[in-house]
Amino acid sequence: MSILNADLHCHSVVSDGTLTPEALAARAAANGVELWALTDHDEIGGQHRAMAAAREAGMKYLTGTEISVTFAGQTVHIVGLGFDPDDESMRQGLTATRGGRGERAKEMAEGLARVGIHGAYEGALKHVGNPDLISRTHFARFLVETGVCRDTPEVFRKYLTEGKPGFVPHRWASLGDAVAWITRAGGVAVIAHPARYGFTANEEYALFSEFKAHGGTAVEVVTGSHTAAEYVKYAQTAREFGLAASRGSDFHSPDESHTDLGQLPYLPGELTPVWELLADRIR
Ligand code: AMP
Ligand code: MN
Ligand code: MN
Ligand code: MN
Repeated sequence: MSILNADLHCHSVVSDGTLTPEALAARAAANGVELWALTDHDEIGGQHRAMAAAREAGMKYLTGTEISVTFAGQTVHIVGLGFDPDDESMRQGLTATRGGRGERAKEMAEGLARVGIHGAYEGALKHVGNPDLISRTHFARFLVETGVCRDTPEVFRKYLTEGKPGFVPHRWASLGDAVAWITRAGGVAVIAHPARYGFTANEEYALFSEFKAHGGTAVEVVTGSHTAAEYVKYAQTAREFGLAASRGSDFHSPDESHTDLGQLPYLPGELTPVWELLADRIR
């Protein structure tokens, strides 16, 4: 049986989504998703719940996560799929990657206080589902809730991106470490939403080459973060680098996300779907 409606990228309350793994599973199944993965940021604590909920909802499941990596001075996201969710060295690596988030959040709040926005740390914490995973998204929800901005993209534009008052640079995992954690745990590493990074052609070439050299084997082509023209561009990049292709909405919240679970176009036919590399890891 060949799978078309795979959605292999989304977030629950275990990271910066607003729905539980169970609610996401029900929503994905209702939208016709056949194969699903929950990919919380730097965290695999929701995997067993998600797997059980997928089974309950009649979907196939691949384990997932989205690892924050620092590459060429920028943050890049690497999705891992089909790994052993109990792998000890992956668990330890992710714990270390999450470690700096609390301090970073306090510094973000200090930056916001300097421009007159007070109580942002406590305000963001009220939106946090997992105390280990306070993220910029939680600050964005606080600034929307208090009327400072109209929506989360406005918050990022004005307050949370490089050079803005609430931005605190952070050193995440290395590309090599992230790919190694995933592949040694039996999974496949995927470059998430490559169009989002704003890299020059040379930087992007370096990312793809180094990713391959470390053992990465796939790239997101059809994602909620790409335009239709970018599907075409990264389908070409996947072919050039001999990478399999992934598809995922990057759904975070019914109130914030433009792309719902399972609602993207299918992968272009000439590409190898990443789930074909993971046939024996599908649960
Ligand atoms: P963090 O891991 O704390 O740096 O937060 C990163 C998260 O912020 C991403 O996973 C997105 O969910 C969200 N994000 C980043 N940039 C934007 C943006 N321009 N608009 C809305 N959300 C964003
Ligand atoms: Mn996110
Ligand atoms: Mn991402
Ligand atoms: Mn994501």
